[in-house]
Amino acid sequence: MQALPQSLQVAQGAGKVRPVEIMPGLAVGAGQPVVIAGPCSVESAEQILAAAVAVQQAGARILRGGVFKPRTSPYSFQGLGRQGLELLAEAGQHTGLPVVTEVLDVRDLELTCRYADVLQIGSRNMQNFPLLQEVGTVDKPVILKRGFAATIEEWFLAAEYILAKGNRRVILCERGIRTYEPATRNTLDLAAVVLTHLQTHLPVIVDPSHACGRRELVVPLARAALAAGADGLMIEVHPCPVKALSDGQQSLDPEEFQGLMTELGFGRSE
Ligand code: PEP
Ligand code: MN
Repeated sequence: MQALPQSLQVAQGAGKVRPVEIMPGLAVGAGQPVVIAGPCSVESAEQILAAAVAVQQAGARILRGGVFKPRTSPYSFQGLGRQGLELLAEAGQHTGLPVVTEVLDVRDLELTCRYADVLQIGSRNMQNFPLLQEVGTVDKPVILKRGFAATIEEWFLAAEYILAKGNRRVILCERGIRTYEPATRNTLDLAAVVLTHLQTHLPVIVDPSHACGRRELVVPLARAALAAGADGLMIEVHPCPVKALSDGQQSLDPEEFQGLMTELGFGRSE
């Protein structure tokens, strides 16, 4: 990969991360890695509240939970939609954690912005250019996941779509790419983390849950991500992974998540 043209906004100030503020006192890329955790999907009031309390107590700083789910099969659980947004926001308020959720469609953006503190663009939408341009106009931080078949350069150019519309609060997320290796759901590309720091000014976080698809690999890959310089982690946590409506096999239970946080040196901040 050649160096990005210096005229691109994403390349400006390359080599030094510009922190992205989430709320006063919390920024991604400011030195201390930020952990985002929560279930793949919001499933019920009890489930999201239990997850929120567990991840907050373990030291996570942002709560995740999908409500518009991009499922491979149209017959799989598609998420709770608007009701899920309400439940997620309530769980965030209860724990004091800002919340992030995926926006799948331009038509849902306005509604999602009413409830979410941070927007997530999923892997399947990394090159949905109208959606990228639209989130480029809103005043919310955006986590841009790497497309599972996207090159690093394509990913940086997708970020450029958002920056070019004026939204400078972009956080990249490496979540694994599809390779010929079937032992893991995807293949975690940690060189992408290093290259992000060398070639852009954007913070980059790693999602080991979707990268490997297997609970037992999440902790070692999280450790490796931090060693590679990641500015944060996104981890799927479910109060009872065997009952999860999506991605249970890669979700940690609260105890496992607490173990990860202790091992990686994230204590509770208060
Ligand atoms: C998710 O975060 O639940 C998700 C669907 O991730 P990705 O877009 O990386 O597959
Ligand atoms: Mn998931």
